[in-house]
Amino acid sequence: MPNHASPPGPATLCDSRTELVKSATAHLFNARNAARYSAQVLQGVEAAAAKVSRCTRPFTGVTPGEMKSRVDSVDLDTPLPDTAAALEELEEVYLRDAVYFHDAKYAAHLNCPVVIPALVAEAVLSAVNSSMDTWDQSAGATLIERRLIAWAAAQLGLGAAADGVFTSGGSQSNFQALLLARNQAVEWQRLDPENDGFRLPSLLEKLRIFTSADSHFSIEKSASMLGLGYDAVVPVPCGPDHRMDPRALTGKLARARDEGLVPMAIVATAGTTDFGAIDPLAELAAAARGSGAWFHVDAAYGGGLMVSGRHRHLLDGIHRADSVTVDFHKTFFQPVSSSALLVRDAATLRHVRYHADYLNPAAAVDRPNQVDKSIQTTRRFDALKLWLTLRIMGAGQLGALFDQAIDLASGVGEVLASDPDFELAAPPQLSTLVFRFRPLHPDGSRVSDEAADGLNQDIRSAVFASGEAVVAGTKVADRHYLKFTLLNAEATLEDIRGILELLRSTGASLLARPEARA
Ligand SMILES: *Cc1c(COP(=O)(O)O)cnc(C)c1O
Repeated sequence: MPNHASPPGPATLCDSRTELVKSATAHLFNARNAARYSAQVLQGVEAAAAKVSRCTRPFTGVTPGEMKSRVDSVDLDTPLPDTAAALEELEEVYLRDAVYFHDAKYAAHLNCPVVIPALVAEAVLSAVNSSMDTWDQSAGATLIERRLIAWAAAQLGLGAAADGVFTSGGSQSNFQALLLARNQAVEWQRLDPENDGFRLPSLLEKLRIFTSADSHFSIEKSASMLGLGYDAVVPVPCGPDHRMDPRALTGKLARARDEGLVPMAIVATAGTTDFGAIDPLAELAAAARGSGAWFHVDAAYGGGLMVSGRHRHLLDGIHRADSVTVDFHKTFFQPVSSSALLVRDAATLRHVRYHADYLNPAAAVDRPNQVDKSIQTTRRFDALKLWLTLRIMGAGQLGALFDQAIDLASGVGEVLASDPDFELAAPPQLSTLVFRFRPLHPDGSRVSDEAADGLNQDIRSAVFASGEAVVAGTKVADRHYLKFTLLNAEATLEDIRGILELLRSTGASLLARPEARA
């Protein structure tokens, strides 16, 4: 910076402002900068491509402390000279040590390797930057989203009145479903002249949501956010296969009715996060019909079965749902985020409709407004990713990717079941495996439950720190287990056997520590 002896005069100030605006506008996405746009985005794409082609393991094992000092050392008030320099720095603060889901030895959470057509869409949708709230911010994008909602609803057989909206993820979809269910319940109770006593907020205290003990935590969190409290969620026990027990549900419903409570919703899960269990959808639908409750199916994980060539039947009964959550960013191999809430009756979306004079006045009914169906206002055109995926790959290929992961899980299930060092908590149902390392001591006795708890947590941490593989952990009946979530159609049984050997050798050396023997 030049050192000014005296403050700059008006002319100099004006010049430097002009300079600043000139260099700033060179970064705007517009006709003049189109070539610069392609060149710079290509630099970013090439950095990612170079990284993915060099990647030999899912993680480096970097610690939060190491990363923090690198990220904190960046001077955000002093920009770098160009994109190349910024990408070089990004290698240090992100790319080198990120967790890579495409690697065959990433087997932890429901993160998928992503398909290239969706990445093409990402480039287009963020450049055009449509916002899905109103037609005057999106035009054709609105209709593309609507076609995909109609397509997904038809795959599930939700009927001619179905509708829905794209959301940021399964948690948001579940939240919106329960919001619709809550308002619907309030409306039904108020319409009933017999129920004069049911008035807000005393009615809210009476509403109950029935879901399996294995369902996703976003159900309880939604109940809390909806003003019902965590206690509004009644956990229904599962059978040994981790599917909701319909007889237990009937019992819980009867007890609630006796206590003067109102069944607001029955939430089934089509693919639980841990066991991939699919609740008995047809039976639960019947129970919901009989009790007047909204029937929501959380198919955040199992939704991909709708395009499966070989496992579609696992979703039988889903056509009776009042609403369905589908996470395209899980089993449709889409980049985060991409999810949808589908509803049987478009009219129920009125519960999230508000009219704002500046955005969607009640009079402007001639233009399709997605904001009328969403709890978001400004919203990404995430639907374009699924659109280009269907147009380039087709649904059959997507289904084949998920089918392959399901087959792999079934093969790994056999390997685990026949290995005396490991205990498989349940046979795989979709593409997850819950198991623990619990070998025999040299004296022939089995490692105790307590010791296995600590051991399996330590194995998971040690393997994560090695970066050689990433596996998840969970609890079953209060015991610590390890978990594989398989979504990679290119991972082989040999790859997963490799992870098992790593878990075994890590476990063996942890057991050999002097304190472990004490
Ligand atoms: C992943 C998952 C969710 C949450 O979805 P997000 O996209 O992470 O918000 C909800 N339910 C189930 C069964 C899931 O597996």
